[in-house]
Amino acid sequence: MAVKNFGFAAIKPRTIDFEQFDGRLLSEILELEPSFKVCLSCGGCTATCSAGNLVSFNIRQLNLLLRRGETVGLENEIKKCMLCGKCMLVCPRGINIRNVIMLIKKSVAKSHSLKR
Ligand code: SF4
Ligand code: SF4
Repeated sequence: MAVKNFGFAAIKPRTIDFEQFDGRLLSEILELEPSFKVCLSCGGCTATCSAGNLVSFNIRQLNLLLRRGETVGLENEIKKCMLCGKCMLVCPRGINIRNVIMLIKKSVAKSHSLKR
């Protein structure tokens, strides 16, 4: 029987590999910026993001990767944020997203200096 074309397809199933899960950065951020705990993944920040309007940058996806413990590659993504704070103006939970980004940047810089 032919599959009906609804104009969209289900995404490939994704599972969290707990062998690879690295929750250290998330724990650090939640401790230093507790407002991040109440994110409801509404996507408001992404929809209004200045960087996302210019380049391929999705703050909501970055949030998801962080919560999945997939921190590899965050470093390059985070560089695209301009720290303008526009996302904070629309966040229904009043999350200090700019501080979350700053904390990620600091953590990345710290791990680089430890490698030297
Ligand atoms: S706007 Fe706020 S609550 Fe919504 S996804 Fe962004 S950080 Fe989370
Ligand atoms: S602070 Fe960063 S994430 Fe927030 S709107 Fe500006 S560029 Fe986007």
